[in-house]
Amino acid sequence: MSPLIDTFGRVHTNLRISVTDRCNIRCFYCMPAEDVQFMDRKELLTFEEIEHFVRVAVPLGLRKIRLTGGEPLVRRDLHVLVRKLAAIPEIEDIGLTTNGILLADQAQGLYDAGLRRINISLDALDPAKFEKITRRQGYDQVIAGINAAQAVGFHPVKVNAVAVRGLTEDEIVPFGHFARKTGVDIRFIEFMPLDADNAWQREKVLFAHEILETLSREIMPLVPCPDQDPHAPASEFQFADGLGRIGIIASVSRPFCMSCDRFRITADGKLRNCLFSLEETDVKAMLRSDAPDSAIAQAIRDSIAAKKEGHEINTARFIQPARPMYSIGG
Ligand code: SAM
Ligand code: SF4
Repeated sequence: MSPLIDTFGRVHTNLRISVTDRCNIRCFYCMPAEDVQFMDRKELLTFEEIEHFVRVAVPLGLRKIRLTGGEPLVRRDLHVLVRKLAAIPEIEDIGLTTNGILLADQAQGLYDAGLRRINISLDALDPAKFEKITRRQGYDQVIAGINAAQAVGFHPVKVNAVAVRGLTEDEIVPFGHFARKTGVDIRFIEFMPLDADNAWQREKVLFAHEILETLSREIMPLVPCPDQDPHAPASEFQFADGLGRIGIIASVSRPFCMSCDRFRITADGKLRNCLFSLEETDVKAMLRSDAPDSAIAQAIRDSIAAKKEGHEINTARFIQPARPMYSIGG
């Protein structure tokens, strides 16, 4: 079968699966503070439906999966889904992105189910700043989650930190030292216009090059890591003495759309060919109406074929998607 290729020649092998839009915190760059309208639970794809979709996509070239949300660890028995997906021989890699609050209890079960790659989101090492950003408590649980992930054997453990101008500049150097001390990879992500409050402004983006300059000046020079995955959104660096790895996801200042190999399915079963897509395909309706696998496969092909060249954040044409990050699955 021919691969999932779009009109720009990009081959799609990498699927992000959102398992819920619910979350136990309220990061300001993602969710509204209060009164969030969550999806009705019966709208969520079941684990069997997710597995069915993945099994249809595998012959089209799907090889890598990342589970996300909302907060994926609030979905009950997530390890059961991991085990189902890990049992598909063609799936080479299953990752998880989590805020880490519930991780200490679940890390071992997820590891035993076959999960190997984990990204934990933590934007500040200062607990007060953590609470300001997330509008909830939970800092100590996240740190416990990071420790648990390392203890059960996830390697590497990556920490995602959204970088926001006027807010997280003071976190850059502490995170650099944290990477050196703990062996956790830190990945700084530029703030993107996907917040529920529509408050994103270009002026609030703390740019990747500024972060690299700060770390190089205040700690020591950073050098690019060898053997980087050309499809990975992060550019990887390490400090010149080899201690401490830093990733930079420059989604706004240096878009990496031309090397994108990702597509997404939302928790309510909508297929999206881009984080910033304004259109989606209702796969859940197909899965629930016993549509033949060939029709689902064709819907995936059609979605990928319609993928745009890239996001247009840096142009006047940019339109923020109606779904905020928590509802798409970051
Ligand atoms: N709840 C999980 C978590 O926070 O890791 C998984 C879902 S979250 C939407 C996935 C990632 O997207 C997190 O690392 C989060 O920090 C990031 N994110 C959310 N909103 C963002 C935004 N507006 N700009 C950049 N990154 C964002
Ligand atoms: Fe929840 Fe993750 Fe969004 Fe924060 S970024 S509100 S943890 S879904």
